[in-house]
Amino acid sequence: ARIFLPHLVASMVNILFQEEVEETYIMIKPDGVQRGLVGEIISRFEKKGFKLTGLKLFECPKELAEEHYKDLQSKPFFPKLIDYITSGPVVCMAWEGIGVVASARKLIGATNPLNAEPGTIRGDLAVQTGRNVVHGSDSPDNGKREIALWFREGELCTWMPVQEPWLIE
Ligand code: ADP
Repeated sequence: ARIFLPHLVASMVNILFQEEVEETYIMIKPDGVQRGLVGEIISRFEKKGFKLTGLKLFECPKELAEEHYKDLQSKPFFPKLIDYITSGPVVCMAWEGIGVVASARKLIGATNPLNAEPGTIRGDLAVQTGRNVVHGSDSPDNGKREIALWFREGELCTWMPVQEPWLIE
């Protein structure tokens, strides 16, 4: 039992300080791809220290866009949103890390880019809600759901970045 005590303490500390390892679905929308912002956007998550576990350029079928945004089905802008997301290739990404879901949302910034803080992706790179360049899951459950929706088995990688001991104590 003594062997398990440090693990128990560590997981309690993790819960207390919100240090759960999570996964999130990040997508560069068609405007981000068309405007040549793919490298810039990926860099921000890389530099922060999150782990990329899935990445592909993809032309999203209408049905998938509708499924992804099904909670917004009743909104007046829904048809426009589906047209936007299916208007060109998107970059689909899965990222993993401690607190990655909320942290990625902070890196992305507010939905309306005019309200997004400078330093955030939307704050620095976009002006309109309907062209806000990037998507990020809004909860750990949705992170899992969306990664399962956008990636097939075998498209995700399990790996250990060499920098990890220098990022996480
Ligand atoms: P977020 O992407 O910040 O989680 P929401 O889940 O509220 O924001 O909305 C999903 C996406 O729908 C937004 O990123 C944006 O592309 C689009 N959207 C939201 N509200 C509007 C709106 N009023 N007009 C046009 N598009 C919108």
